Amino acid sequence: MAGAWYRSVSVSPGLAMAEYPFEYELDITLRDGGGARVRPIKPEDAGLIREFFETLGPESRYFRFFRIKETLEAKEVDFFTQVDYSDRMALIALLEGKMIAVARYDRDGPASTTAEVAFAVADKHQGRGIGTQLLQLLTNHARSHGIECFHAYVLPENRQMMRLFRNSGYEMTRTLDEGVFTVDFPVGESEGMLEAEAEREKRAVAASLLPLFFPRSVAVIGASSDPTSIGGKLFHNILSTGFTGPLYPVNPKAKVINSVRAYPTILDVPDEVDLAYIVVPQRFVIDVARECAEAKVRGIVVISAGFSEVGPEGASLEHELLEIVRDSGMRMVGPNCMGLLNTAPSVQLNGTFAPVYPPAGNVAMSSQSGALGIAILDYATRSNIGISQFVSVGNKADVSGNDLLLAWEDDPQTDVITLYLESFGNPKRFSRIARRIGRRKPIIAVKSGRSSSGSRAASSHTGALASSDVAVQALFRQAGVIRVDTIEELFSTANLLANQPIPMGSRVGIVTNAGGPGILAADALESNGLTLPELSTELRAAIATQLPEEASTRNPIDLIASGGPAEFDHAVSLLLESGEVDSVMVIYVPTSFEGAQGVAAALSRCQERYDGEVALLSVFMHSGDTARYLAGGEGRRAIPTYMFPEAAALALSRAVGHGVWRLRDPGLEVRLEPENEIAIRVIIDSAVEKVSATGGWMEPEQVDAVLKAAGLRVPKAVVAHSPEEAVAAAAAIGGRVVVKVISETALHKSDVGGVMLGVEGEAEMRAAYEAVTKVVFDADGVLVQEFVEGGHEVLVGMTQDPNFGPLVGFGLGGVYVELLQDVAFRIHPLTDVDALEMIRETKGFRLLQGYRNTPEGDVAELERALLRVSGLISVAPELVEMDLNPVKVLPPGEGVVVVDARMRIQPVPDTRHPRMRDLPGVR
Ligand code: ADP
Ligand code: MG
Repeated sequence: MAGAWYRSVSVSPGLAMAEYPFEYELDITLRDGGGARVRPIKPEDAGLIREFFETLGPESRYFRFFRIKETLEAKEVDFFTQVDYSDRMALIALLEGKMIAVARYDRDGPASTTAEVAFAVADKHQGRGIGTQLLQLLTNHARSHGIECFHAYVLPENRQMMRLFRNSGYEMTRTLDEGVFTVDFPVGESEGMLEAEAEREKRAVAASLLPLFFPRSVAVIGASSDPTSIGGKLFHNILSTGFTGPLYPVNPKAKVINSVRAYPTILDVPDEVDLAYIVVPQRFVIDVARECAEAKVRGIVVISAGFSEVGPEGASLEHELLEIVRDSGMRMVGPNCMGLLNTAPSVQLNGTFAPVYPPAGNVAMSSQSGALGIAILDYATRSNIGISQFVSVGNKADVSGNDLLLAWEDDPQTDVITLYLESFGNPKRFSRIARRIGRRKPIIAVKSGRSSSGSRAASSHTGALASSDVAVQALFRQAGVIRVDTIEELFSTANLLANQPIPMGSRVGIVTNAGGPGILAADALESNGLTLPELSTELRAAIATQLPEEASTRNPIDLIASGGPAEFDHAVSLLLESGEVDSVMVIYVPTSFEGAQGVAAALSRCQERYDGEVALLSVFMHSGDTARYLAGGEGRRAIPTYMFPEAAALALSRAVGHGVWRLRDPGLEVRLEPENEIAIRVIIDSAVEKVSATGGWMEPEQVDAVLKAAGLRVPKAVVAHSPEEAVAAAAAIGGRVVVKVISETALHKSDVGGVMLGVEGEAEMRAAYEAVTKVVFDADGVLVQEFVEGGHEVLVGMTQDPNFGPLVGFGLGGVYVELLQDVAFRIHPLTDVDALEMIRETKGFRLLQGYRNTPEGDVAELERALLRVSGLISVAPELVEMDLNPVKVLPPGEGVVVVDARMRIQPVPDTRHPRMRDLPGVR
C-alpha cells in the first residue's frame, strides 16, 4: 500500500545474488543533449547514495518517501545499495562522478510477475528525461527477469512523475486511493513504447550534436600561425570563411595567431566555448580533453591521430579519452579525423583542414576515411554539389555514423544523406534508423569491400556461401540504402536526388540532337532495368509540329543536328507534361559551345515552368561549363548534368530503385505460435546443456524434433545401430527407404558415399548398412529415412555474422548449390515480403515455376517454410549455423519436406541477450 516505500530492510546475507549485470553499464543521451553514465547500483555505493540524498530538496524527498525525511538511516542505505539484480534491481545515473538519479524495482514477492518501481532525480537535473531513460532500461531488465507489470505510487502533486509515465509510451492505468495514485503498466514491448523510445532517441541525439554543428563559439587547441601545419590550416579555414561566432586560438607558445589573441589553455578563454577542435600531439590529447571538460566545453573534435588505429596502446589511450568525454557528458568526433563543417549561413563553420570549402547545399556527408574526405570535398566542390554538413568521423569513438543519421533526419538543411563507410559500429541500429529515414531522405552509401566474415562460421553450405559482402548487401537492401560502388557514383546519384523528384516509375523519355548517343543512352537505361516506352501518336504529332521532317519523334526523340534551344524547349516541355514518362533525359552533343549554353538555358526555362513529379536530367557531351546555366534558383530545381549517358542512366536507375523501395510493402515479421516456441525452447535448452562453450552439432533426433516443433515437415526416420535394427526400421517406415551414416566428421555425407537412396528389402539394407558405415571412421549407426520422391531440391540456411546477427539464405541446387552460387540472403528476421522476394530473386526460381520439362513446385508452402525458419531463429539465439539441404519442394499442394538438416548451437553469452547497445538512446 501507499507509503510503504520499502518492504523489508533485512537483506539476508545468504541471498542468492544474480551476477552483476555489466551490460547495464551504459552511457545515455538526455533530452537536452547532455550525457550521463548509467550502471547498476553496488554495495560500495553507500557514500554516493548519502551524498545524493543531501542534494534532494524537501519536495523531492517528500515525493520519494511520502514524508519529510531528514536523514537516511544506515539500514536504509543498505537496503538501497544491496540488490540482487534479479528480484531487486537499481540503476544509478552519474555525471562527473556524482550520482544524479536512481531508479529501482522490487519484485512484489518470490516468483511474482509484478514489481514496484520508484525514482529519484537530483533537483537540478529534473526535467532532462533521466527518469524516462532509466525506466526504459529498467523495464528491459525486468522483462528479461520474468516481470510483466510495474506499478508505482505517486502523489497527485508530483506532476513530473506523472509526465514521465505519460511520455514513456507505456499503456498505463491510474487509480486513486487514499490520496495516492497507483500507476500500473505492462513492461512488455508495445508499438507505442517502441515509437516513443525511437522519438526520444532521435531528439536527444540531435540535441547532443547541436554544439558540434551549430556552435556559438569555437576554440582551436593547437592553432598555429604556420600555414603548413594542420593546426594552422584548420584555424585559417575557420577564420577565412567567416564563422559567425567568436573563434579562440589556444596555444601555450603563442600570444597571437593570425592577428587573433591566443590563450595558453582552454581554461584561460574568457568565454563559454561550445566546440573545441583538438589538434595537439597525441601525448597531450588526454590532458587537453580533461581541461575541455573542466571548462564545460560541450563538444570536441579530436583531429590528432595515434589512437585505436595504431594498435592496442593507442586503443587504451582512446578508451581513456572516451572515459573523460562520457564522465563529463561532452560529445566527441574522432579521434583521428579531419574535422567537421557546416555551410549553413547562420554558422559557416569551415572546420576541416582540407583546402576546399564546398558550396552550401542540401547533401550531408559523413566519411570514415580522412584522406578520402579531402578528395570527396574537392570532388563535391568541382562538381558543384552543395553540401549542408560534412563530418569526418575518424575512429568513431563517441559520435557514430548512426548518431549523424539521427541528427540529419530532421535537419531542415539536409535532403540527401551520403556515407562513405568502411565498417559498421552497430549494424542493427543502423538498419532500424536507416529504414525510417530512407522513407523521407534518401541515404546513399559507398561501402568499401573490407571483409567482415573473418570470424563467421563456415562449416556449413550457408556459411561458405555468405561471402564477406553478403551481409552488407542484405542490410542495405532491407534498409533501403542506395549502394554505389565509387565516390563518383555517390555524387552523381546524390546530385539527382538532391535536385529532382524521385521518379514514380521506370519509364524514361530521351530527347537528343544526335542518334548515336541516343542509342547509347537507351542501351544503358535498359541494361539498368529502365524502359523507353513508345510515345502516343498524339504526343508524337504535337512534338512533330515544331521539328523538321528528318527528325524522329520516336523515343529516343532525335531533334537532329539542327536542334537548338527552341526545339529542345518544345520537346522537353511536352514530354514533361505528357504523363507518358517518369523521367526525361536530355542528351546534347555540341555543335558549338554557344549552342550548349543556349540549350542549357532553354532547359532551365523548361524547369522554371515545371515542378511536377517527372525528373529531368541532362548529358552535355562536352567539356565546357554548362552547370551554372542548369543551377537551381528561385523556385527552380537544378538540373543535374553528366558527361556521359551511362553515368546518367546509372544514377537514374538508382533513383528509380529507391522509389520502388519506398512504395514497397515492408511486410510483417512472422512469429511462430507460442506452443511451437515453447516446444523449441525445451529441445534447445536440453541440447545446449550437452555442448561445450564453443558449441557443437545437435543430434539428428534433436534436429528432427526442432524442425517438427517449428512446423516443418520431415520424413519419417529411425536411428539404427546395427543392420538388424536398420532392417526393422525400414519395415516400420515401409516402402523404399534412404540410409545415411551418422558421423561427427562427415559434413557432407554423400560426398564420401555415406548416403544410399531407394533401399528396399532385407538383403539390400544389410549391404547398405555395411557400405555407408565403413566410409567413415566414426560411424555412429545410421539414419533410416522415408524416401521422398521427386520435387525440386533447395537450400534454406542460416549463419551467424558476428556484427549483423543471423543471416538467412535461400537457393536452388541441392548438392550443386555451392557451384551455382545462386543464393539470396537476408538479415534475420524475415518479413513475409522478404520471403517472397528472396525466392523470386534467385535465377533458379524459374525452375520452381515449371521450366521446360521440370514440374512446378509448391512455392507458397516454400515461403511459409522460410518464415518458419525465421521464426525458429527468433526463439533460438543459440543457433549459430543451420543447413536445411536439401529441402524438397514438391508439386503445388503437396508441400515441402526437409530431408537433410544440420544445426550447430552454442550457449548464448549473457551480454548478447539482451543486446543493450542496440537499445534506443544508449550511446
Ligand atoms: P549430405 O548433404 O550430407 O551429402 P543428404 O542427406 O543431403 O546428405 O543426401 C544427399 C542427397 O540425397 C540429397 O541432396 C538428396 O538428393 C538425396 N536424399 C537424401 N535424403 C533423401 C530422402 N529422404 N528422400 C529422397 N532423396 C533424399
Ligand atoms: Mg545435404
